[in-house]
Amino acid sequence: MASRRRRVKSLAAVLVLMPFCAVSCSGCRTAFESATWDARAGRVLNGQAAVVYSSRYEIDLLGLEKSHSFDIHKYRRMAQALVAGGYLAPSDFFVPEEADEALLRLVHTPEYLANLRRSSYVARCLEQKAVAGLPGGVVDSRMLRAFRVTTGGTVLAARQAMRCGLGINLGGGYHHAHADRGEGFCVYADVPIAVRRLQRDGLVRRVLLVDLDVHQGNGNAAVFAGDAEVFTFSIHQENLYPHPKAESDLDRGLWPPVDDAAYMSVLAEELPPLLDSHRPELVVLLGGVDTYRDDPLAGFGMTAEGIVARDEYVVDQARRRGMAVLYVASGGYSEQAWRIQYASIGNLLRKFAGVEPSASRDAPSAKAAARKTPPAQP
Ligand SMILES: [Zn+2]
Repeated sequence: MASRRRRVKSLAAVLVLMPFCAVSCSGCRTAFESATWDARAGRVLNGQAAVVYSSRYEIDLLGLEKSHSFDIHKYRRMAQALVAGGYLAPSDFFVPEEADEALLRLVHTPEYLANLRRSSYVARCLEQKAVAGLPGGVVDSRMLRAFRVTTGGTVLAARQAMRCGLGINLGGGYHHAHADRGEGFCVYADVPIAVRRLQRDGLVRRVLLVDLDVHQGNGNAAVFAGDAEVFTFSIHQENLYPHPKAESDLDRGLWPPVDDAAYMSVLAEELPPLLDSHRPELVVLLGGVDTYRDDPLAGFGMTAEGIVARDEYVVDQARRRGMAVLYVASGGYSEQAWRIQYASIGNLLRKFAGVEPSASRDAPSAKAAARKTPPAQP
């Protein structure tokens, strides 16, 4: 009964909010949103790194997000911080297309994609019971579309990685999505889709997934099970969702607490031999920051500095061997999550693309991002 009341309340909220929603209203977008909305090429920074982002990554849960740990503004906060920090201008971001049905079908079954038309099904994937009460069209346009654009972003970042060495997607890393089902706030298997697309285009053959999100990437492990060309390596918290875990090619399930030193000793023990034996052309770093000590969903004890050093270590080990790196954001649920991820990405851009941040260069752009674009004249 309570659930029914919540659904009715949610539906009413949608009907009230729909006419005023800024997400699809071009006249209500901020200058920053306008600059990162339509798909376009960006700038490869010093010929060595490309950063992919779209304002369309922002999921619009119509207020329902308050009941979930995920910060739906995380991606935008990271993007705007990179601009404010002088790493790049809004026009430098590569802005992706929304992944279309043909792209999604490289990994997902037609039955699963059809199931996503039902709000009740999506509600389970997103762990948001109230979503079940929303019209299917609203769920698709306000929620699923954001995941499809982010999936397109992972494909674009992977493609750029193969061109310049380092491709960074400020979203993505939905590693719990399976070929035939979604779970754990993951709908589309963006990394497997990107890998399959690049393989199909003849851009890559051998790939290594380095999944450092605190949760095990059960979806990715299942998709690539038995695939000799794609190796899945995961360091995760053993006594944490998902239960049961899937079988990666190499799993290091650790028990909390795990501090920086303990984590790095495992990573340093496993990663270099893997790179040398599997010889991937592309290394995918799922750089989840839910290993942070204050993450509300996990129990690891890493510091922000430790996570920055962790990501730098992975990229350094790959780049010194001439391997391309795709970085995807993955999880992180503390209030500090976006700041840690911003710090890590900034560090990667400095160390591996020679980007010298210039606060003065882009400060006006950051200020402009906070202003609303005036509505177009009728
Ligand atoms: Zn996670």
